[in-house]
Amino acid sequence: MDANIFFGSTELTSSSYSERKSPYSGQVVSRACVCSQEDAIKALNIADKAAKEAKKSTLSQRCNWLLDVASKLKENREDMAQTITDEVGKPIAFARIEVDRCIETVTLSAETMRTMHGETINTDAMVSGKKTTAFFTREPAGVVVAITPFNFPLNLVAHKLAPALVAGNAVVLKPTPEAPLTAYKFAKLFIDSEYAIKDALSVVYGDAEVGSALISSDIPRVISFTGSVPVGNIITKIAGIKKVSLELGGNAATYIDASADLNLAAARCAFGAFVNSGQVCISLQRIYVNTDIYDEFALRMAEETKKLVVGSPYDDDTFLGPLIDDESASRAMRWVESAMTEGAKPLLPLQRDGRMFNPCVMADVRDDMSIVCEEVFAPIVSLIKVDNFDDALPRMNNSPYGLQFSVFTNDLRITQRAISELEAGGIVINDIPTLRFDIQPYGGIKLSGVGREGPKFAIEEMTEVKSVIIC
Ligand code: NAD
Repeated sequence: MDANIFFGSTELTSSSYSERKSPYSGQVVSRACVCSQEDAIKALNIADKAAKEAKKSTLSQRCNWLLDVASKLKENREDMAQTITDEVGKPIAFARIEVDRCIETVTLSAETMRTMHGETINTDAMVSGKKTTAFFTREPAGVVVAITPFNFPLNLVAHKLAPALVAGNAVVLKPTPEAPLTAYKFAKLFIDSEYAIKDALSVVYGDAEVGSALISSDIPRVISFTGSVPVGNIITKIAGIKKVSLELGGNAATYIDASADLNLAAARCAFGAFVNSGQVCISLQRIYVNTDIYDEFALRMAEETKKLVVGSPYDDDTFLGPLIDDESASRAMRWVESAMTEGAKPLLPLQRDGRMFNPCVMADVRDDMSIVCEEVFAPIVSLIKVDNFDDALPRMNNSPYGLQFSVFTNDLRITQRAISELEAGGIVINDIPTLRFDIQPYGGIKLSGVGREGPKFAIEEMTEVKSVIIC
């Protein structure tokens, strides 16, 4: 099946398609229209006109639109999950979870927008003020450009389309080149809905060339980007004066205190380090373990990791499927081997077969090794022995990234210090940092990004406050 362009509500085939091959089998699983920079500009012009109509539409229509999409997605759950697995090799059980999350993200966006409103302002509270009727409202920003990554090719698209459209904007989506059909099928649900606002959603395909044409144009008022730090850097340089929201990389860490429940910590850490083969922005990469329980924890972590099934992403019980491409697997292996030449030791046998990469728990690492200080985005986790939380804290914070951190502890003082002193957009107590509920504000500090997602917070970013005074 082909991922065709949507120039607004008009679907067009193309004379030229690029093939997407499964990272598991190498077979062609989808084809996407090859788009040019001119196509990107054409989509923006259509969105510009549609944004004026979208602004006039009622919130009731837009909420019905999203609820209709959520209900159609429920009907197509299995097909959508299979498409995700085909295109990015995500194990099918987790692809199904992603579809379920997406249904909730879309539904929640409608529910949230129904109750979001401005406020009245007491202008006579100021010494120089006087009694007026003053308030602010929220207006759609206009055209939103949405650019998305490969690792959650459906739910991260939903985190942009649903808040943007329910807030009354028009959107041009450029999805990851790794999963064009997933994005196409999702967009088609919006476009085919009886409640759709005509031309409010366009979809173009491609990579840097098409993406940069969308970003550098004067038409969009908001750029909503999720992806890597290098691309985020390019975007900030070429975007010009418009709102730019960046959800970027991470290097998530946890501290395991001597007071922690070790069974819980080991089981959850194996999950957080290896789910989606470590290709998660909040993948657990660094585990700082209190020296008193280090040996015991390392043993349990290795035991929990051994239970994880590596194999075909189409099998229900597979936990780790393939990495997204050969280069990612080669880079991961290079970094592990380089760490080993400097004394790091894998606790389980190292095994890689092409893009299939077995989960790798590394001990005796140093803070300056690439597997510790870079974003690995592969199934590699490092165990680091620390004296106590005072020792762990500066080492956890010593990262250019600041997305999510966690601690496992039953000590209230450590909990309080973790909340106030760990430098990240999100802190989790007694679970892994690889935890995101779609209703929460989600995003990072430092190189991990600018702005927050989660329907309420994305709607705030995709709307403009208009202040009114009636004297
Ligand atoms: P990527 O940066 O390579 O690509 C992301 C998107 O940017 C793709 O659609 C790509 O085509 C597009 N792109 C590439 N060059 C561009 C340019 N010059 N201008 C505009 N667009 C361009 O990221 P990826 O490999 O798909 O995803 C992995 C990265 O995403 C990791 O760093 C991960 O941490 C991050 N990520 C962050 C979050 C978050 O919420 N913070 C969530 C998921 C993934």
